[in-house]
Amino acid sequence: MAEKCFKYVIIGGGVSAGYAAREFEKQGVNPNELAIISKEAVAPYERPALSKGYMLPEGAARLPGFHVCVGSGGERLSPEWYTEKGITLILSTEIVKADLASKSLTSAACETFKYEVLIIATGSTVLRLEDFGIEGADAKNIFYLREIHDADKLVEAIKNKKNGNALVVGGGYIGLELSAALRINNYDVSMVYPEPWCMPRLFTADMAAFYEGYYKKKGVNIVKGTVAAGFVKGDSGEVKEVKLKNGNMVPADIVVVGVGAKPLINLFKGQVEEEKGGIKTDVFFKTSVDNVYAIGDVATFPMKMYGDVRRVEHVDHSRKSAEQAVKAIFASKQGKEIEAYHYLPYFYSRSFDLSWQFFGDNVGETVVFGNRDPTSEKPKFGTYWVKDGKVMGAFLESGTPEENQAICKVAKVQPPAPSLESLASEGLGFATKI
Ligand SMILES: Cc1cc2nc3c(=O)[nH]c(=O)nc-3n(C[C@H](O)[C@H](O)[C@H](O)COP(=O)(O)OP(=O)(O)OC[C@H]3O[C@@H](n4cnc5c(N)ncnc54)[C@H](O)[C@@H]3O)c2cc1C
Repeated sequence: MAEKCFKYVIIGGGVSAGYAAREFEKQGVNPNELAIISKEAVAPYERPALSKGYMLPEGAARLPGFHVCVGSGGERLSPEWYTEKGITLILSTEIVKADLASKSLTSAACETFKYEVLIIATGSTVLRLEDFGIEGADAKNIFYLREIHDADKLVEAIKNKKNGNALVVGGGYIGLELSAALRINNYDVSMVYPEPWCMPRLFTADMAAFYEGYYKKKGVNIVKGTVAAGFVKGDSGEVKEVKLKNGNMVPADIVVVGVGAKPLINLFKGQVEEEKGGIKTDVFFKTSVDNVYAIGDVATFPMKMYGDVRRVEHVDHSRKSAEQAVKAIFASKQGKEIEAYHYLPYFYSRSFDLSWQFFGDNVGETVVFGNRDPTSEKPKFGTYWVKDGKVMGAFLESGTPEENQAICKVAKVQPPAPSLESLASEGLGFATKI
């Protein structure tokens, strides 16, 4: 098969690929120089919508409505946009071999793509229960959510099993968002997770108590401290009941699993330096191999703010790392330097009527403030993380845009912390006067 050559190739057609394409265009890429090769059948879109608007029973988000870059208030890059700009979108094409030495990629259909500069933007894939050897985990009605085709399968099942029972495995943000979505679709929802409270990587026990109380109020049954140990299938090959490790059985017409993700870097194993489970990059997202960059979920990069290196699986970083890498590529062509990546961690989630934002680092002691009574009409609360006398991180539930900006500023400035008691009583007031 004939080989295709491009000056720039991006492997992966997700969030970071889309934001990179916009930056390429801003930097003046010439027609036919850039190709995006994606396993997915659609142009880059804002992935977080899949567990939120996409699942709504009415007025659901659908493409082309949420192609990048609408998630950050930018222009929506429809498939036509790429054609107009001379950017080649090669969709439904999985790269199965990458040879960084010969600068060539091979697709599952044996096509060869050559490049001068490569950007790795393959993102993450979900951890599957089969990988843990759980009995019956291959049943038909067990769903995962990463890509739009997964979301379509889940939406279809939600329609087919109307008003049924759903079990959500996992208490992270995917589990929380999808439990809410299933409840909004009128399912009887149970959530099961082994930890003592939900979102343990970010939430403290106090914060989690609010969300668990709120979910209970909405009718979600939370089962903590145990795991799904086996799936009992009926004649159709579908799960009917889920065996929990604590001995209980839970009926289920739909099972949704959100137990984590891992970066997709296997194609490059042994060819590029890795660190902390990702591809090691510098502050320009350049890898250890010349002319190869890695952005988004796969990159382990220097986190200037905290003096360490991290891999971040958040949409804000995928957008910003994409822009940084493309700026760096063009700057180096012109013999110029750009500023080092200076990232302030930012993460958000939305479910039911709730919406929270978090900025900074969740290290040290915590102070919770505000109204976190899940039964109240308008709960609004926040948390500060304090380490070595400085406020390092801030979280706010149900903040206005201005209030969210204020907690962002706290995390950026890292102001000296007053006593924990004063912080608690000042609450949001502390942030708004920084
Ligand atoms: C359901 C869901 C909800 C989320 N919600 C939030 C949220 O609320 N807030 C937040 O901060 N973050 C959220 N995230 C995380 C966020 O979406 C990711 O951090 C972000 O998408 C990472 O961007 P990326 O470009 O690195 O990877 P992705 O967006 O995952 O894109 C990777 C792309 O590479 C393609 N690909 C992979 N391997 C190959 C191959 N071999 N050949 C060709 N193509 C390949 C994939 O098909 C995909 O198109 C969510 C993620 C999911 C799945």
